[in-house]
Amino acid sequence: MRHFAVVGSGPAGFYTAEALEKAYGDQARIDILDRYPVPYGLIRFGVAPDHQSLKAVSKRYDKVAESAGVDFIGNVTIGRDVSVAELLDLYDAVILATGAPHDRKLGIPGEDMTGVVGSAEFVGWYNGHPEFADLDPPLGGAHAAVVGAGNVALDCARILSKTRHEFEGSDIVGHALEALDSSAIRTVTILGRRGPHQVAMTPKELGELGHLEAAAPVVDLADFPPVEADDALEPGLRKSVTLLRGFADLEPNKPKRIVFDFFAKPVAIEGDGRAERIIVEKTMLDEKGAARGTGETYEVPASLIVTAIGYSTSPIADVPFEGGKFVNSRGLITDRLYAVGWARRGPTGTIGTNRPDGYEVADQVAAAMPAGSSSEREGAEGLKRLLQERGVMPTDYDDWCKIEETETGRARPGSPREKFVRVEDWLQAIGR
Ligand code: NAP
Repeated sequence: MRHFAVVGSGPAGFYTAEALEKAYGDQARIDILDRYPVPYGLIRFGVAPDHQSLKAVSKRYDKVAESAGVDFIGNVTIGRDVSVAELLDLYDAVILATGAPHDRKLGIPGEDMTGVVGSAEFVGWYNGHPEFADLDPPLGGAHAAVVGAGNVALDCARILSKTRHEFEGSDIVGHALEALDSSAIRTVTILGRRGPHQVAMTPKELGELGHLEAAAPVVDLADFPPVEADDALEPGLRKSVTLLRGFADLEPNKPKRIVFDFFAKPVAIEGDGRAERIIVEKTMLDEKGAARGTGETYEVPASLIVTAIGYSTSPIADVPFEGGKFVNSRGLITDRLYAVGWARRGPTGTIGTNRPDGYEVADQVAAAMPAGSSSEREGAEGLKRLLQERGVMPTDYDDWCKIEETETGRARPGSPREKFVRVEDWLQAIGR
């Protein structure tokens, strides 16, 4: 028998557990650990609440969790309740699938002002992440800005622009729905430091902006290279650029606008004690395709500024860490310690990208300790004893199902699903 600990219950963690389960069958026990009492990481706290079809992938993860050899152990923080060295004593291999939950910083003056929030915080707020339940983003001004030209920037701009009606069937949390419903924001400016040909936005997500009930996307065709230049783009990007160009043909006859401002690099955030405007420098592309400032600056009014410029992983004591992720070679950090997903390769790719990633690492584990081999390590039994000694009360699969049931029971027909937003509420639901 082998014992494996997968730390983190987002997509990377679940695909790795699935791969290990397939490789070892009943020759291994796999524990998926999470710091929260409930699983799914990015699926629960990161994927937009109005993208239910993407969230449905969790059904596949449910199947993994229901397999005989797999257990969920929640409410346990690695590095605080138990160290990685202790896990390595208890398990044959430890796989860190901790994602990248921290916002990268712009590094410009004024970034710490009230009114400036990172996308992890903002997305966490509308998705019911317990750490961001009290974020209270300022929605009382007419202008917001979102920095970045990726899919997360699109998510944030779209959520800021949707009507209450458009959230039906989503699982946005009540506090965010109420706040957004009374929001005064009428213009959301998306600031891209490079041009339309350099966006990291995918066609499906861009296409949605053309069909919003109360908001219209706005582009300036002067930002675009001649249309013939689109031929050289890879098909997905070409489609995105075609969609962006098409926004110029839409009638801006809706009360809200989502304005694409390209070649605009933030250089400062200003305001009287709180953000009121973001100063941007006009850029041009240098010979390597990077954004080079031209010296010309202008201001964009914004009392809410969401930075959506990428994420980094949480460091864990004694695990080598560099450039926002764990130092690893094809997933291997040190003997029997691995990283998968964003903790391994940084915050890029779709949910599905984590599947081959998890399977590759599981293959490496299986090569190092073939199915049928065994060890004397204790696995979950030893971990639970250690946690009990330390007064930590883990949650299990049945607890999480009970929490889910309680949340589902709170939903009102036709309304977004009601979710708990505090760890205490989750624990109360299971009688703790
Ligand atoms: P991303 O795709 O890497 O985009 C980050 C954006 O921030 C880029 O436009 C980048 O510009 C810009 N940026 C970085 N540093 C900057 C700075 N200092 N100043 C101004 N702009 C800066 O990251 P993401 O949007 O966070 O998305 C993360 C991953 O999740 C991506 O793979 C994304 O596709 C995926 N995702 C998918 C979905 C979906 O499928 N529905 C939804 C959300 C996220 P440069 O290009 O110039 O560096």
